[in-house]
Amino acid sequence: CGIVAIAGSEPVAGRLIDGLKRLEYRGYDSAGIAISAGGSIDRRRAKGKIVNLQARLDAMPMDGTTGIAHTRWATHGKPNEVNAHPHMSGKVAIVHNGIIENFRDLRTALEAAGRVFESETDSEVIAQLIDQKMSEGLAPVDAFAATLDQLSGAFALAVIFSGDETVLMGARKGSPLVLGYGEGEMYLGSDAIALAPLTRDVTYLEEGDWAVLHPGSVDIRNARGDRVNRPRVKSAVND
Ligand code: GLU
Repeated sequence: CGIVAIAGSEPVAGRLIDGLKRLEYRGYDSAGIAISAGGSIDRRRAKGKIVNLQARLDAMPMDGTTGIAHTRWATHGKPNEVNAHPHMSGKVAIVHNGIIENFRDLRTALEAAGRVFESETDSEVIAQLIDQKMSEGLAPVDAFAATLDQLSGAFALAVIFSGDETVLMGARKGSPLVLGYGEGEMYLGSDAIALAPLTRDVTYLEEGDWAVLHPGSVDIRNARGDRVNRPRVKSAVND
């Protein structure tokens, strides 16, 4: 039930795990992490506690400077490794908190178009939709925006892409998402607590906002796709 993500300039795996530990208080049944590096996306997931995920990473470490991480509180699909986030499809990996209310209709249409699903979650449609639009020729940012328009329900999202290790996208509707500023890095988190070891310098995204983050910059848009400025504030969270 939490998200932490980094578009960074230094290795992220350890820092993502630290962020997840700070979100444990929200409760969860599984956890996972995905990193875009070397032209592909690598992923580790585990049922149960974050120490289980940590053990996977210790056995098979991950390189890379841009990644997403998630603690899951299952709403659709059993709490197991296959249903744990991140979910991947083609060039895309996503983490999602919340519920996609219209996922059945979306999944039916995607399956009719020949797409094969791996999990029982409502969330996987998000990865499938973005990847489908990219395979039809849309740029990643346009595929993301078009996908957001199709989703109903509540979500906080973070997305990474294989082949572009410098971009991270996020969106919020009905679930909180905070954006953080680092030294040549940008962060996303479910709350300022998750980001506290990384930065206190944050922007609370507003309802319907989405953002395209690069290590040294961010572009925030509202639900209509217009560029917007949101206040940049100091979070009051203690380390
Ligand atoms: N509805 C999604 C799932 O069941 C996300 C749950 C969450 O917020 O962690 O996988």
